[in-house]
Parts: sequence; structure tokens; C-alpha cells
Amino acid sequence: MSAEHTCLFCKIIEKQIPAKVVYEDDIAVAFEDVNPQAPVHILVVPRKHIPDIQSMTDADRETIGHLFWIAAKLAAEMGLTNRGYRTVINNGPDAGQTVFHIHMHLLSGRTFSWPPG
Ligand code: 5GP
Ligand code: ZN
Repeated sequence: MSAEHTCLFCKIIEKQIPAKVVYEDDIAVAFEDVNPQAPVHILVVPRKHIPDIQSMTDADRETIGHLFWIAAKLAAEMGLTNRGYRTVINNGPDAGQTVFHIHMHLLSGRTFSWPPG
């Protein structure tokens, strides 16, 4: 079975698994994280199954850039720009990536520490 058929986020994108979708277009889907780490915790996920950053091809550059565009749009609409927000892509096991379909975390609503744990 291909990675796309077993991938949790592909299933959410295809609406085979329910999620609280807050935005979607023909390139990406944004939905609430099931285990939020902040008052706002949204995952912005490309429809294309790209496992991680190093799996990107030249053709994926606009797709990945689009994730930032969606994060900025959601942050503006949700009134997050004054206080700020954090965007995170965990890449690989040591970075804490658990779902191998690239995704951007959009976190806000509290103060975050630096460096991250
Ligand atoms: P990672 O650890 O790969 O950077 O992030 C994966 C994220 O997916 C985690 O924050 C986790 O809470 C979230 N997650 C895992 N399973 C589900 C699910 O079934 N639904 C939703 N909405 N989020 C999930
Ligand atoms: Zn996938």
C-alpha cells in the first residue's frame, strides 16, 4: 500500500477522517490540531503527500510557500498579528516529527519560550 493510502493527513485531506477544518483551497488544508499545545494550534498541510522538507522537488516550492501565505491569512483573520504567533515545521525524528506528511504548525495565544525544548 502506498504512503498516501496509509497517511493520516492524506486521510484527513480526503475527509476519510474527521477534523475541524478552518481553511482549504486547491493546494492546502488547515485544520485544528487534535492535541493543542496553545490556545490556537492549527496545522497547515499541502494536499500533495510530501513527507518532509528534503522530499521537496523544484515543483513544490510554490506549494510550500503557500503554507506561509495561509498562516499569514489565518493569523490576520484571527487577530493574532499584534501579539504574534509561531510557525513550526518539525522535520525528522530528532525534531519531533511524528506524521510524515509535511505540515506547518501555527501556534498562538500564549507566550512561547526560546530555545524550544
Ligand atoms: P509533528 O509531531 O509531526 O510535528 O505534528 C503532528 C501533529 O499532528 C501533532 O501536533 C498531533 O497532535 C497532530 N495529530 C496527530 N493525529 C491527529 C489527528 O488525528 N487529527 C488532528 N487534527 N491532529 C492530529
Ligand atoms: Zn500524506
